Amino acid sequence: MERELRREAAVLIETDLTGLPVLVVGPPGLTAAVVRRHERAGAVVTVAASPREVTTQVCARVRLAVLVGPASTWVTVRDSLAARCPVVTEPVPDAPRGRVVLVGAGPGGLELLTLAGIRALAEADVVLTDRLAEVGDLARLAPGAEVVDVGKRPGHHAVPQDEIERLMVQRALAGLTVVRLKGGDPYVFGRGGEEVAAAVEAGLPVTVVPGVSSAVGVPGSAGIPVTHRGVSHVFTVVSGHVPLEPEQARSLAGLGGTVVVLMGMHNLVPLTTALARAGLGADTPAAVVERGFSPDQRSVVGTLATLPDLAARAGATSPSVIIVGEVVRQSAVWARRVGTGSVDGLATGVVA
Ligand code: SAH
Repeated sequence: MERELRREAAVLIETDLTGLPVLVVGPPGLTAAVVRRHERAGAVVTVAASPREVTTQVCARVRLAVLVGPASTWVTVRDSLAARCPVVTEPVPDAPRGRVVLVGAGPGGLELLTLAGIRALAEADVVLTDRLAEVGDLARLAPGAEVVDVGKRPGHHAVPQDEIERLMVQRALAGLTVVRLKGGDPYVFGRGGEEVAAAVEAGLPVTVVPGVSSAVGVPGSAGIPVTHRGVSHVFTVVSGHVPLEPEQARSLAGLGGTVVVLMGMHNLVPLTTALARAGLGADTPAAVVERGFSPDQRSVVGTLATLPDLAARAGATSPSVIIVGEVVRQSAVWARRVGTGSVDGLATGVVA
């Protein structure tokens, strides 16, 4: 499956060019992506920006020549190279292709990236990527692209949002195809709307490739359906980065459905307390699903009353999705939970 998806990504990534001397011929602005693609496939690349640079010496070493853009019309160069080695030409779009594509990477792993996302990466000149956009080897998925990590990682500071937007717009205005790769779906707590607005304001064409949101996908990966016939016919996704106002908590409790909280781990105590105060029973099933779709995925299952303590004891941290509601009982993790305590007759605990 992974191989099939990768075949979509680019022709060269399955070709091992290790050690092969390759000459890339063409104006500097047009050859950068071609050079990167060949270097990532292992080739030893020499670049010639004008016919003058294609000397006899250079020609003698070359085993493959790639002519980019107008270089394909440099007849003398083409003929002398063709006499020595295979020559391929790379088409160059007639119009400047400066554009922005926001791609939702899904909640983790290559398989949850869409085919449209894979195609956008394969065509990218620049990829601005995030900490949560974990799709594996980006250099292989976007073989011609400069990859810029703008997310927060240990030892690195996140690039501020306005700087990300500036970078994105600046590169696209220079004629490059810029992919902004984001965890989950770009529009779910992803600041996708702001990035689209920045591109539109700069007069750039922009498209958005949706992604599987952790809000639905991560509970699902633990067997928790966000809706279930006869149990819950409404689910609300809220950000937990600040505690809930009492009024908000009352509205959520009043809906009688599933509450899904993202970015809420550091506020687990105030969030569960607010929901219990707002009228949800302290024995309402509640779960934390941590690092969904990673090998370390695990779930902490309890009730509104017990979850904060269980999660703290398990050392559960971000990224996690918190789910509150009767749907938690439908899940495999509820069925498999191990007894580490008992509240109101409900066993609770951690499930891998
Ligand atoms: N746009 C993203 C959400 C960004 S907010 C989406 O649609 O999924 C970041 C929050 O998403 C994290 O704090 C966490 O609550 C959640 N999240 C994202 N990926 C996750 C994962 N693999 N496992 C658990 N939670 C995840």
